[in-house]
Amino acid sequence: MLDSIFEAIYSVGFIAGSVIRRLATRQYRRHSATVNRETWLDKLLLMLASVGMILVPFFYLLTPRLDFADYCLPTWAGLIGAAVFAVSLWLLWRSHADLGDHWSPYLEIREEHSLVTQGVFRHIRHPMYAAHWLWGIAQALLLQNWGAGFSMIVCFLPLYLVRVASEEEMMFERFGEEYRSYMNRTGRVIPRLWSECPPSAKSGNERTRS
Ligand code: SAH
Repeated sequence: MLDSIFEAIYSVGFIAGSVIRRLATRQYRRHSATVNRETWLDKLLLMLASVGMILVPFFYLLTPRLDFADYCLPTWAGLIGAAVFAVSLWLLWRSHADLGDHWSPYLEIREEHSLVTQGVFRHIRHPMYAAHWLWGIAQALLLQNWGAGFSMIVCFLPLYLVRVASEEEMMFERFGEEYRSYMNRTGRVIPRLWSECPPSAKSGNERTRS
């Protein structure tokens, strides 16, 4: 009984997440990009992530084929899963709202591109990817099955590793020192508790101490 409630919560969350992404994609217009870093590997890994995010969970929800790999968590774990899913959806929506026209499904820089450092981007550089990680954790707590529960985490990891590295390289090439200083103040998907001192402040401190 409880597992079907958690599966229903997952399905509602999935629909909400799809609406957020659909609205963003509808607003997206292909502008003249000065840089495009999308490779065949990115496309392949994006497809793999969709398998873990869409195909496997719905295969589990709509057929009994994966039921042999079910596990059973206490009720509180499912409730935490629902809360984590809500935070994930909020973060996905907020990061789209803060990134606005700079969002792209591709790795690209537009002619009129500027660096967004406000809103959720003030604390982390990749709030959208953070939302995907939270989604993956929620999926494992709500769909209590070794296949469908962990498919998102397993299938998103390669895309995350490849994409974040080339995205940051691309942003650094475009924004230089502005991006380096932004990197020093923020974490990738977890906020930084402290930031590095700028070199001038460090030497200033040393001078005061000596
Ligand atoms: N990695 C970010 C954004 C993903 S969308 C996140 O997880 O929230 C990918 C596009 O966003 C890239 O094509 C890049 O041009 C753009 N982008 C990423 N970070 C940005 C920033 N801080 N300011 C402006 N554009 C950014």
